[in-house]
This record gives sequence, structure tokens and C-alpha cells, in this order.
Amino acid sequence: MANNENLFKQIISHAKEYGFIFPSSEIYDGLAAVYDYAQYGVELKNNIKNYWWKSMVQFNENIVGIDSAIFMHPTIWKASGHVDAFNDPLIDNKDSKKRYRADVLIEDYLKKIEDKIDKEVEKAAKKFSPFDEQLFRSTNPRVVEYAKKIETITQRFSQMLNDEDLVGLKALIEELEITCPISGSRNWTDVRQFNLMFATQIGSVADGADTVYLRPETAQGIFVNFLNVYKTGRMKIPFGIAQIGKAFRNEIVARQFIFRMREFEQMEMQFFVRPGEELKCFKYWKEERMKWHLSLGIAPEHYRFHDHEKLAHYANAATDIEFDFPFGFKELEGIHSRTDYDLSQHEKFSGKKLRYFDHETNENYIPYVVETSIGVDRMFLAVLSNAFNSEILEDGSERVVLRLPAKLAPIKAAILPLVKKDGLPEIAREIMDVLKQDLMCQYDDKDAIGRRYRRQDAIGTPFCITIDHQTKEDHCVTIRERDSMQQYRVSIDTLKGTLINKF
Ligand code: ATP
Repeated sequence: MANNENLFKQIISHAKEYGFIFPSSEIYDGLAAVYDYAQYGVELKNNIKNYWWKSMVQFNENIVGIDSAIFMHPTIWKASGHVDAFNDPLIDNKDSKKRYRADVLIEDYLKKIEDKIDKEVEKAAKKFSPFDEQLFRSTNPRVVEYAKKIETITQRFSQMLNDEDLVGLKALIEELEITCPISGSRNWTDVRQFNLMFATQIGSVADGADTVYLRPETAQGIFVNFLNVYKTGRMKIPFGIAQIGKAFRNEIVARQFIFRMREFEQMEMQFFVRPGEELKCFKYWKEERMKWHLSLGIAPEHYRFHDHEKLAHYANAATDIEFDFPFGFKELEGIHSRTDYDLSQHEKFSGKKLRYFDHETNENYIPYVVETSIGVDRMFLAVLSNAFNSEILEDGSERVVLRLPAKLAPIKAAILPLVKKDGLPEIAREIMDVLKQDLMCQYDDKDAIGRRYRRQDAIGTPFCITIDHQTKEDHCVTIRERDSMQQYRVSIDTLKGTLINKF
């Protein structure tokens, strides 16, 4: 799917045209990087959340859920490190007045060199048969030179980020002659650190009010409730706490649709284990989370792990599950072994003991934590972009179809009386009333049946149920399947069971 700009544009406009995602505050010209989920979008999003919640909380007896508040005591963000270190390096172009992330400018530059390598490989693959790609990459002088350049810049760049060397970052941008994509100039300001948390005031009098933050992640709500859940839930290690909720980040470069938003949703699970068992547990959750993604039937080649070589100071293992979005492989989910860092920090800052008493070992300790953290919106985009298909049928007509995993589809079945007369709507209504008790259904009697099928294809409805004149005689309806467009008749009495079995 990599780098398919045109496909990405089609997906964004489809999402709007068919009621999945609208730009926020659109009649006021929108608000950058904020989006609203529309009538079908909210269904798909809820289905994704339920699918995750079920797999975590319902299927694991040792994982419970919570729903903590968005506002939390401001010291939490001091303890977690967000007040001091949740920063991105920003740089402005003085001519276009546009703001960029300095690290993203350099990453984009590196990506362009990578694209050049890919082009060379592509050209050679067409020319030589058989073609040994690995050999070509390691021997072709131009490719070797490009690869060396990437390696040297990456090394210097990582060191600068690590040392928070803002002067070095600016110097590198100048040295690489990176220009502003808008003005084309190299007239840059200095690089500054920019904290991504949104701050606001709590309390009625502005003078005496305290600064609070909109949480930039849901995880801290879990850490600060660790003791309460452990005690009231009589939890035994290893156990997990899961949460789905909104998070807010004042992203400098918020682009790529719902991939990077300023208000988004996370599904996070913190798993508390005995010290020393965290790496085994990390491996377990790494595999489990990939299995969860694959269980949706999305092709495995759209996923890959990106193990972190350089770890944050509090982590002893970390990986990202990356997805092949229309703009290339990017992070969809993070899995991190966070040691006892967060709970220790909260012990220190709150002065409260956050210990677990292990009856098996007779020890009192701060548990270690493995977390899985996935963005709901990124998962939505992954599912939507994977499902979007525009195909030419045998009769030459175009069909736009969302091949969504059936269990995630916003509408599970459409109930379609062939005509609006002859008693067919009455039968269709009866069927609708029965099915809607268990399945999200939609009744549609407008336009010719073919157009109605296309409308359902475009929103990803896996099954259309057509009621025709023969129904009055044989008490059967036609099921039309979205992906194969196959049609077959089933009796009304067995319809509900047949459909439920398919989910
Ligand atoms: P990135 O490097 O892409 O900014 P991150 O490493 O900062 O992501 P985490 O802090 O690990 O992300 O957050 C966990 C998950 O939350 C991410 O894997 C992603 O799915 C989601 N997420 C993070 N930031 C955003 C955002 N601005 N918009 C939408 N989803 C986000």
C-alpha cells in the first residue's frame, strides 16, 4: 500500500461522503487535526473498541477494566515525566510562517533517500532476471552510497535527539539544505522544545485556580488506581488493568487525517508482574497482540514489528506493531516493558506506598509493568484503508466496496423490500423488527435494488436481505453477500440463525 497518495485521498473523501468521518466544526472551516465520527463511523469505532475490550477484559479472567477521569492531579504529570520531557523539537520557517517538527523534517529527508534506493531496486528488478535483491543492495555503488548516507545521518540525528541537542538539530537541517515545502526557503528559526500537553485552569477564580492538563495518555489513570484495583478487586499477580479513553496532544505537525490528531482515543492495558518476569510477559503480549490483529482477517503482510533498539530510560524492552497505511508502514500499537518506573515515581511523588504483597513468596514489592497501547483512531484508519476497494465488474461498471471484517461492520444486514407495494414492506418490517434485536440493521426501500446494493457495499454491510414477490409464496428471502456478490435463498424462519452464525 506504501505511498499511495491518491488512494489515501479517495479513502478520506469516501469516509466523508458515506458518513464515517467529518472534519470537526466544518461549517466554521474546521479545526486542525480534530475530527468527528459520523453515523457509520461511530458504529465502526464502537465495534473496534468492543472487540478489543472483549479480548482483554472478557476473555482474560485476570484483567479488569476501569474508566478514569481525563482531569487528574497535576503532580501526576510531574511524576510521570510529562511536564519536563513530553516535548517535540519545533522549528519555524520565517518566510512561510509554517511550523514543523525538526525531527520530522530530517526523517522526511531520510525517507526521500530511501525512496531513491527503492527506485533503483525496482529498476534493476525489471532489468535482470533472476534478480537477487540483497546482492544488488550490497553491491550497487549508488545504492551503497545512499545507504551509507542514511546510516551516518541517522546516527548523528539519534544522538542529537538523545542529548536534546537543539543547536545540533538546526545545524543538521542547514547542512542537509532542507527547505520549507511551502516557501521553498531555508530561512529557519532556532529549534525550541515544545510541550505537547494541553493545560487549562481548574477552579472558579482565575487567580487561585490550579493548572491541570488534559491527559496525554490514559496509562497514568491506571497507575494511580493500581492500589485501589488490587485491593478492591482482590487481584493476584500477574494481573492487568485495561482502559479505553480520550487522550490529548498538541501535536505540532498534525496531518495524515486521523493518524495524528490532537484529540484521540487510546486502548491501553497495563499488566503487573513479579520483578524478573517482565521480559517473558513482554514476549507473551507481543505475540498476543499480533494474534489479535490477525484475527480480524487482515493479511499478515500489512503488519510488522519494529523492535526498539534505543530504549527510553525506564524501559527494558519495547516494540511497535506497524501497519502498512496508504502512506507507508507506521506505528499502530506500542508494547513496552516499563519496569517499575511509573509506580516508583508515583510512590515518590505521592508519598504513598504502592506495593504488592506476594503471598507465594512472602515479599512486598513494586510490580513491574508491561503495557500494550493502541490508538483507536489509528486502528480505525488501518481497518478502513485495508477495506477500501474500487473494482470494475464484468459489465464494466465500477463498484466501491468496503470489505470490512464482518464483525466490525457498522451495519450487519440491510433489509430491502424489492418494491414499496404488494405487501413486501410489511414482511420486510417484520424481519427488521426481529433481526434488530440482535444485529445492527438498516431498512432501505428507496431506489432500484442494484443502487441499494451499491450503497450498502460502500458502507461495508456484509449481508443484504431482499424480500421479493416469491417471498409471499415460499416464505424465503434472498441473502446477497457483499464480497462475493453471491445470492442464495433461505427461509425466514432460519434467517436470524443463519446470519448470527456468520458473525
Ligand atoms: P508517534 O511516535 O506516532 O507519535 P507515540 O509513540 O508518541 O506515537 P504512544 O505514546 O506510544 O505513541 O501512544 C500509543 C498509541 O496511541 C500509538 O501507538 C498510537 O496508536 C496512538 N497515538 C499516539 N498519538 C496519537 C495521535 N496524535 N493521534 C492518534 N493516535 C495517536
